[in-house]
Amino acid sequence: MQAQRGMYIGGAWRPAEGQDTIAVVNPADEQVIGYVPAGTAADVDAAVRAARDAFPGWAATPQAERAALIGALRDGLAARKDEMAQTVTAELGAPPALAQTVHAGLPVLVAGSYAELAATYAFEEKLGNSTVYFEPVGVVGAITPWNYPLHQIVAKVAPALAAGCTVVLKPAEDTPLTAQLFAQVVHEAGLPAGVFNLVTGLGPVAGQALAEHPGVDLVSFTGSTAVGRQIGAVAGAAIKRVALELGGKSANVILPGADLAKAVNVGVANVMSNSGQTCSAWTRMLVHRDSNDEAVSLAVDAVAKYAPGERVGPLVNAKQQARVRGYIEKGVEEGARIVAGGPESPLGKGYYVSPTVFADVTPDMTIAQEEIFGPVLSILRYEDEADALRIANGTVYGLAGAVWAADQETATAFARGMDAGQVDINGGRFNPLAPFGGYKQSGVGRELGPHGLAEYLHTKSLQH
Ligand code: NAD
Repeated sequence: MQAQRGMYIGGAWRPAEGQDTIAVVNPADEQVIGYVPAGTAADVDAAVRAARDAFPGWAATPQAERAALIGALRDGLAARKDEMAQTVTAELGAPPALAQTVHAGLPVLVAGSYAELAATYAFEEKLGNSTVYFEPVGVVGAITPWNYPLHQIVAKVAPALAAGCTVVLKPAEDTPLTAQLFAQVVHEAGLPAGVFNLVTGLGPVAGQALAEHPGVDLVSFTGSTAVGRQIGAVAGAAIKRVALELGGKSANVILPGADLAKAVNVGVANVMSNSGQTCSAWTRMLVHRDSNDEAVSLAVDAVAKYAPGERVGPLVNAKQQARVRGYIEKGVEEGARIVAGGPESPLGKGYYVSPTVFADVTPDMTIAQEEIFGPVLSILRYEDEADALRIANGTVYGLAGAVWAADQETATAFARGMDAGQVDINGGRFNPLAPFGGYKQSGVGRELGPHGLAEYLHTKSLQH
């Protein structure tokens, strides 16, 4: 994928206002693979104006037409799947198989789900003597991270478009090429000019300008809790709608009587996937004290299959690599026991971290509390179910989790007690229509499926 030199604004690639650029680096070999423009407040302003101009027309477009255009976008993503996967591998370092199935594949499913929802969603409802109308919020400012670069774009843009909103996207500075390729697909799908706009740039410059812009009606952000808090404060001061999808420290709770080998193997795979750079990763494994030794040994065997440079890619950049290695050192300092991996770099080149498993982790340790965002698993022991629930709920986060038990009822009852937005029961499959989002400091709002679409709607009632 050849980097674009401009911004996609008002249906065309236009030169950026400033001269600054951002280098895009392949984290597997540390080589620069391209440059994209570093947008300024002036670029953001031009993009917001284009989105505002396009809004009335797009909001008034019949549902079936909006649905057909989102369907064309889905088809474009499917047609460019290989190129998309290669781009994600080049700028994020995702192994090719993961890039194909998850990074390029999942967005096709999600875009398809919104093509269907755009056609079938009930934008009107009768309630006694009232008719309730669900109307698009307006211009959406979408700020996305690098860990699932295309999925996070599609999970915001597709529902916003289905709702009748127009969008300005500011993607992560580490993965702008995926965003540029997405803009190209939007263009080829024939969406009207200004309905989708792209401004690449740095978070504190272009991202902040977008979050603060008075022409933006809703800010949808995915990323760190620190920046999310800042964006929430700015939106709150302006009485602006905001959706925040932040970090996590999700618990994988293995209850007595569960299939231990399956629960541990699936749990390890969940953490190692995408080099641990997944906000919903089950980074805390909770096992009954009687099963602890067996679980630790199963985890050591399971993690041995994740060779860096083969099944596990690098971290996205040098800063993340240093951050994750710092957490591993902190785990050792605080008394946890390394049973696999460690802080040393496994390869001479690239931002790799060894897949690492800690045993004897206690709930108060830093590695049991903070989001590490790397291939690091903490195994904690519990005494009984009440203790397991206390530990599971004992962090500031509440994004996701898993429960394994001898039967569905036991696992479901436990999951109902968890402070988490999404819990998989005995290996329940990912559902692209299920609402995704957090309790507590994991965020505000939900993405995906009909609940994700509702985020982009105002409610108006008329009494007759
Ligand atoms: P970040 O929050 O800084 O970046 C996310 C997005 O926000 C990027 O597009 C960035 O350009 C933008 N941004 C940054 N500062 C901004 C500002 N002041 N105003 C507006 N937008 C701004 O995340 P990061 O530094 O790339 O990663 C740091 C940590 O965040 C990770 O280690 C991880 O713990 C967490 N993270 C979580 C997720 C998630 O899916 N929840 C994704 C990425 C990172």
